Amino acid sequence: MTPPRLPLASRLAAVLCAIAAFATALALLLQDRSLSEDLRAAAQARLERASSAASHLLQSHLETLAERYRAISGTPELVANLEVNHAPTLAYYAERLAERQGAAVVLFLDREGRSIAAAGDPGLRDAVLERRQRLAEQGERVGPKPAHPLSETDAHSSLLEQGGRPYAVTAVPLRLRGRPVGRLVALEEISQGLVSGWSELCGARVSVGSRADPDVGDFAQPVRGGHGLPVWVSASLQAERDALANARRNLMAAGLAALALAFAASLLVSKGLVRPIRAIQHAAERIGHGELAFRLDLDRGDEVGDVAGAFNLMLERLAATQGRLGNAQRLARMGNWSIDGRTCELEGSAEFRRIFEFEHDEAPLSADQLLARIHPEERERFGQALEDCLLDGKPFRIDHRVLAMDGSERILHSQGERVEEGDGPLLEGTVQDITERKLVEEQIRYLAYHDSLTGLGNRRLFKERLHVAIEQARRQGSLVGVMFLDVDDFKVINDTLGHSAGDVLLQEVADRLVTAAHAADETVRETGRSLSSTVSRLGGDEFTVLLADLESREDVETSARRLLDVFGRPFDLKSQEVAVSGSIGITIWPHDGEDVEVLLRNSDTAMYHAKRRGRNSYHYYAESMQEAVSRRLVLENKLRRAIEADEFLLLYQPKVDIETGLISGVEALLRWRDPQAGVVMPDEFIPLAEETGLIVPLGQWVLRAAARQALAWREAGLPPLRVAVNLSPYQIEDPGFGGFVAGVLQETGLPPEQLELEITESTLMKDEEAAIELLRELQSMGIGLSLDDFGTGYSSLSYLRSLPIDTLKIDRSFVRRVDSDPADAALAASMVSMAKVLRLRVVVEGVETEEQREFLREIGCDEIQGFLFSSAITAEELSAMLRNQKPKRRPGRRRARRTRAAVREKKATGQATGQPRSR
Ligand code: C2E
Ligand code: CA
Ligand code: CA
Repeated sequence: MTPPRLPLASRLAAVLCAIAAFATALALLLQDRSLSEDLRAAAQARLERASSAASHLLQSHLETLAERYRAISGTPELVANLEVNHAPTLAYYAERLAERQGAAVVLFLDREGRSIAAAGDPGLRDAVLERRQRLAEQGERVGPKPAHPLSETDAHSSLLEQGGRPYAVTAVPLRLRGRPVGRLVALEEISQGLVSGWSELCGARVSVGSRADPDVGDFAQPVRGGHGLPVWVSASLQAERDALANARRNLMAAGLAALALAFAASLLVSKGLVRPIRAIQHAAERIGHGELAFRLDLDRGDEVGDVAGAFNLMLERLAATQGRLGNAQRLARMGNWSIDGRTCELEGSAEFRRIFEFEHDEAPLSADQLLARIHPEERERFGQALEDCLLDGKPFRIDHRVLAMDGSERILHSQGERVEEGDGPLLEGTVQDITERKLVEEQIRYLAYHDSLTGLGNRRLFKERLHVAIEQARRQGSLVGVMFLDVDDFKVINDTLGHSAGDVLLQEVADRLVTAAHAADETVRETGRSLSSTVSRLGGDEFTVLLADLESREDVETSARRLLDVFGRPFDLKSQEVAVSGSIGITIWPHDGEDVEVLLRNSDTAMYHAKRRGRNSYHYYAESMQEAVSRRLVLENKLRRAIEADEFLLLYQPKVDIETGLISGVEALLRWRDPQAGVVMPDEFIPLAEETGLIVPLGQWVLRAAARQALAWREAGLPPLRVAVNLSPYQIEDPGFGGFVAGVLQETGLPPEQLELEITESTLMKDEEAAIELLRELQSMGIGLSLDDFGTGYSSLSYLRSLPIDTLKIDRSFVRRVDSDPADAALAASMVSMAKVLRLRVVVEGVETEEQREFLREIGCDEIQGFLFSSAITAEELSAMLRNQKPKRRPGRRRARRTRAAVREKKATGQATGQPRSR
């Protein structure tokens, strides 16, 4: 049980009052004691003196009486009468004496003490005689006693009490010639007036008698001297008592005044001390509630003022610190809070309230109010975390959402822990608004997982999805399909129409693929089976479609067909319609690979096979494909070594002037003589060399070898020939290429007019400006430039106007159809006439028949190249050919038409045309 709380003011008042009361009581006690003792001593001394005075007065009165009666009683007649005991005379004398002296009794006694005559009150007479008798008997028993008044030889007096009154007894011995004859005894009353006179003389009340005067009071003293009766002096202490009472009253009044003063003092003290203490306490409570702007208003020059000053200073510092903390929290968008474990009362910083959108003065808050702000879907989790933290001391860190007042969602990071405080557990924690950070993270995550061009998932996301799908299929016992789709000849489109057109194409392909994949899902679901497809872009023109929840292989086919269908319609690129196809390779988990990497690689392999088998098709993966892949790997390794091993050689195919029939130039065509496989054609190894970058050293070798050969022919005395060298786009990319060509010309001494470089449209399109720059540089050196394979790409003739070229080489695919397809023939004719307008020389390659040559001559083409004249041959063979050649007769127009007709006829009858191929 706690003792009852006593306020400081009450305690102070009680103590001060107790001190005042105690001091008063002590003063009273001490005063009482010393005063009454002093008064008693003073009274005693007074009585002492009075007693001595009374004793003297009594003595002298008795002596006076004895003297008087002796003087009057010595007459001879009286003595003679007593001698003879003459009673009547003596009676007469007694009567006269009593009368004259005012005695109450006068007695005459004989020698033996017998009464002879008497006057006065007989009762008194008897009392005197009786007493005389008693004294005589007493005297016989104790021996002679001279002090006895009645037996004394000399006159003397003593006192006697009779009937309550005091009397003086005087006995005078009477003698005749010196012989005692008897005595006279007189009794005189000691009057009240006499006693009063004595009292006045003594300064104290005198009383005579056996009993003390009832009014004597509290203080009496017997008077010394044997007079037969006790005599008292007495004094009253009333005056002293009154004085004492008075003093007491005064002291009491002083005590009461002291009490009142003490009370007033305690009131003053409480006002001066307790009030500021209360004010400080009140202030502390308001600070406790966060009112830091509050200041103590105690302007005093004493210690209390100092305390108030120090308190206000502390508050200012606290407010400043709080302000800085608040600012820091606002900047960090971080608030802090605490929850009382027992009451669930919640306190939070300003930023905390801002984050949770609590009113600033909404106080106090509760844990329930906090929970109400948490997003409904996460409220339970949050509540659980709080509970676990409170009950088990488990700290927590969670990201969660809150619903803002405007209905938007924000993401917060909350963390908390339990701390033990004096009177119970307390949860303390912080909260930070991480919405922006989360958004950025989301964005970064999105960018990391998505392709910016098409918005599809990228390679990484595809792999993760595939991984998840495999795990899921493993649990469900289902299949996973992977389709690897590559846009056929995308490179050509990109190179000829530019990157932005390529981008548009890829976006359009992506959109169509997504739509088609979903349509395929729907179709499959209609059959009651499940399928869920996701399209991703791995990069470039490579897309994948992940088929999760796959139940049947045949559904893959449904999907693959749908996907290929998207290429059925042409794509609209920069107001130009382009027909594009795609190739798909398919793998199925678990048959074609256990994990993500293997599945992806195998579907890629299957896609390559689809491309080889003719484009716009799909192909399932088969293990045998892996062999082709490894063959490619082997080839790549061999190709690397072939450059060092000098396994390459150049063949030369002549170009013939269509009018003269004479060789006007040659095209250098590369061959690889593999020790094991024999001669490998460029179509087989050039793409590989381009992929691996080997094309750069290989191309350099070709240029040098061709230049040397041209010079060798010249030095052999043959007419100067133009040597055309094929350039790969990758060679043009090399910024040092122009310098390299110049170096070769300088090194070999070949005149630049004798060198021609064949480029394709894709060479130009890669980086058009840089490429054109380079071509101009080469052209300015005097080197000839021809555009190869014209008609396969997308360049229009008008575009050619801007190119620094001097020769157009029409592709052989065109020539092949000129005598079967009138439209192609017309197209070829217009191409040539356009080229003429642009002042370009026209070369047509792949000319295999006379008819073709005739047609080409008719439409005005300048040179032809093809098996009709010669395939690619060695340098030596070409030397021989050059030596043997003679100009041909120019055929007429009519004849050409006839020849064309003949070729058609021969085809119809199944006869072969053209010369046998040779190398
Ligand atoms: P291209 O530049 O179009 O070369 C012409 C190709 O057509 C040669 O094939 C040639 O043998 C062939 N050809 C010539 N006349 C006829 C004909 O009347 N009928 C048919 N059907 N074909 C004919 P080749 O030598 O196999 O070369 C193929 C391609 O390899 C070349 O096409 C060229 O693009 C590339 N190539 C050849 N050598 C080099 C080289 O040194 N460097 C680079 N970068 N590419 C080269
Ligand atoms: Ca060529
Ligand atoms: Ca060509």
